[in-house]
Amino acid sequence: MRYQGKDGFARLDGKVAIITGGASGIGEAVAKEFARAGAFVYPVDLDKQNGIRVESQIHLAGGKAEYLMGDVTDLPYLTDLFQDIYGRRRTLDIVIVNAGKSSNGRAHEIPAEERDGVIAVNVIGADNTVRAAAPLMIKSGGGVFGFTASGASEIGVPKRAVYAPTKAYILELCHCVAIDYAGDGIRAFAVMPGRAETNFATSEEPNRPGYLVRDFPDVTARVKGYEDYAMTNLIGAWVQPDDVAKAFRFLASKDARTVTMAGLELGGFSKGKFPPVRKHCFVPEESKTVRKWKKQAAEKQRRSKDGPEQRA
Ligand code: NAD
Repeated sequence: MRYQGKDGFARLDGKVAIITGGASGIGEAVAKEFARAGAFVYPVDLDKQNGIRVESQIHLAGGKAEYLMGDVTDLPYLTDLFQDIYGRRRTLDIVIVNAGKSSNGRAHEIPAEERDGVIAVNVIGADNTVRAAAPLMIKSGGGVFGFTASGASEIGVPKRAVYAPTKAYILELCHCVAIDYAGDGIRAFAVMPGRAETNFATSEEPNRPGYLVRDFPDVTARVKGYEDYAMTNLIGAWVQPDDVAKAFRFLASKDARTVTMAGLELGGFSKGKFPPVRKHCFVPEESKTVRKWKKQAAEKQRRSKDGPEQRA
C-alpha cells in the first residue's frame, strides 16, 4: 500500500498549553509553534503590548490563543489565572516554564536589587509556576512540564554570577518535578539553549538592555562580541527562537512519550569555547612540549619568510 502522507508527527491537537514569558523571544516562538501544532495556547507575560501582538498573529495564522497578563513572581495571582484557564478548558496539558531575566557582572558587581529581581523571576517564578499548575495537571490526568534551562545550567559562564546558577536550579527543578509527578502521568524535560538571538541578548531598550548590549556598550565592540559569542556555541552560530520552539514541540508531544527527566542542549554551548580571556589571574606555565612546539613553529615561519630570498 502506498503511503498517503500527513504523518501527524509532534501534533498537539486539542492540548491546552501555558507558556510563561510567551510575549517575546523563545516563549513567543513556542506559543506560535504550539498553535501551529493544534494546541490552544495561553502566553502569560508581563508585557501586554507584545502579548496582544502574539495573540493576534496566532489568530491571523488560524491558530487558537489568548494572551493573559501575568507576573510569575505573584503566586496568588498565578494560581487564580491557571485555575481560570482550567475552569474554562477543563484540562491543563502543557506548561512551559520559560519567563526569565539575566544579570551581567561578577558577583560583587551585580547590584543586590538586580540579583533579587533575577532570583525572583528565574527561581521563585519557576517554582510558583509549578505550584500553580501541578494540581490542575494532576486533575487533568497527566501532562508535561517543559523548562527553558540553558547551556549555562551545567557550567560557569563569565560575568553571569547570578543568572547561570538560576539556570542550574531550573534544570534541577525539572529533575525533581519529573520524579515527584511521574506517578501522576506527568513528564518533565528541559531545553538548554546556548547563546540564543532574542531580546534577552540584543534589546537596546534602556530599561531592559540585552546582555550583548550590556557586555559591549560600544557598537563596534558589540559586532565583534556577537561573532565571538557565536563561537561560544559549538555550532559557531547563535541559536534561533524557532530552533528552541521545535525542540519543545517534539518534547511536549506524544512522540516523545518516553522522554522525561531529560535536558536537551541546543547549540553545544557547554561544549563550546569562550573568547580568549585577555588578562589571566595567573600566568599559565607552558609545558616543555608546548615551548618546543612554539620554537618549532617560529622557526618554520622564519624559514618560510626567508625562503624566497634564499632561492633568489
Ligand atoms: P526575552 O527577553 O525575549 O523573553 C523573556 C520574556 O519573559 C519577556 O517577554 C518578558 O516580559 C517575560 N518576563 C520577564 N519577567 C516576567 C515575569 N515576572 N512574569 C512574566 N513574564 C516575565 O528572552 P528569551 O531569550 O526568549 O528568554 C526566555 C528564556 O530563555 C529565559 O528563561 C532565558 O533564561 C532562557 N534562555 C535564553 C538564552 C538567550 O541567550 N537568549 C539562552 C538560554 C536560555
